[in-house]
Amino acid sequence: MSKFFLRKKVGDRVINGHPWIFGNELGDSEGEAAPGDIVEVYSSNGSFIGKGYVNPASQIRIRLLTREKNDVVNAQFFHDRILQAWEYRKQIGYVENCRLIFGEADQLPALIIDKFNDYFVIQTLALGMDLWKDSIVAALNKIFSPKGIYERNDVPVRELEGMQQQKGFLSAPFDTKIIINENGLKFHVDIENGQKTGYFLDQQDNRRAIQHIVKGAEVLEAFCYTGTFSLHAAHYGAKKVLGLDISETAVAAARENAILNGYQDICSFEAVNAFDVLKKSVTEGKRYDVVMLDPPAFTKSRENIEKAITGYKEINLRGMKLTKPGGFLVTASCTNLVSPAAFLHTIQEAAKDARRKIRQVTWQTQASDHPILWNVPTTQYLKFLIVQVL
Ligand code: SAH
Repeated sequence: MSKFFLRKKVGDRVINGHPWIFGNELGDSEGEAAPGDIVEVYSSNGSFIGKGYVNPASQIRIRLLTREKNDVVNAQFFHDRILQAWEYRKQIGYVENCRLIFGEADQLPALIIDKFNDYFVIQTLALGMDLWKDSIVAALNKIFSPKGIYERNDVPVRELEGMQQQKGFLSAPFDTKIIINENGLKFHVDIENGQKTGYFLDQQDNRRAIQHIVKGAEVLEAFCYTGTFSLHAAHYGAKKVLGLDISETAVAAARENAILNGYQDICSFEAVNAFDVLKKSVTEGKRYDVVMLDPPAFTKSRENIEKAITGYKEINLRGMKLTKPGGFLVTASCTNLVSPAAFLHTIQEAAKDARRKIRQVTWQTQASDHPILWNVPTTQYLKFLIVQVL
């Protein structure tokens, strides 16, 4: 197995538990390594750090899989890691639907697996992980005997690893339009063509957090995707709910979800640009008891963080203006590029501009089946806030 040595003057990030090693952090190496190979990593003075997979084509040159010298990275290794992750999900009570593998936080960098009851959706986002796909699928078959496994590798980030985007079955073909249960509701999930893996499991606890503020309320939800928050609002007693999303497919699914749960008289959905509608609704003097905002990331790169902040500020400012005095704003941000502090600051600035006082009700993050590994800051990405707008 070839060996890679860290440069002398690299920070403590890797030593302290971060699994990524960038090209410019590496010095000498011994032996040949093909792209995707498992290699050993040592500090500059020769002490063992860990084993991981290498990709010369990627800026993240090595991602560590283990810090144990005796670990052998083989099919059994992946089986055991997946089993451990499953035991953890069961322990914390995320069983029926869960993010089974959350990459770095489960010591399987660049691997995502969502479990939707008996169906599994996989993303292998780095070459070194992609090469183990067969072993990963074998492990899922052994542990879960699933009804179906699907690959959603239609993700641009794979190109940074020199791989193509692709999607398809990793099991016998099955009907990829499934129905899942969540918090006593049912949702259509389109595993093949839905956004990301088909459904945003990371908000499952946050959807429950709106329970007490929506009773009898008139609710506006912008960026509603398949209507998950809107339907929770109806379920928890809202009088009327309007959901907005730019995607026609998402809105069609949201309408189907309303029918599936018998809330078609309470919930309606429109395929529109939420920025335009929020602006227009303010001008028209519309007011709601509860406004909910869960926009897309707005940026994928550090260079554009300011653009994202501007976007958050604009929609939250309008959201507050649309909220009746004493009503509630439910707002989220799903990119790790905007820190919790920066997000809260943006909300504060929006409140100032809207000339409204806000009182914090709930401040939380992604559901615990997306664990936050403290040595890997990017594993914390979701911010979820409910404020009363006075
Ligand atoms: N709250 C949802 C997830 C929302 S994801 C859930 O928990 O299931 C963000 C959504 O914003 C996507 O569905 C995307 O189609 C939508 N979107 C992106 N830009 C938009 C725009 N300008 N106007 C309205 N919706 C938009």
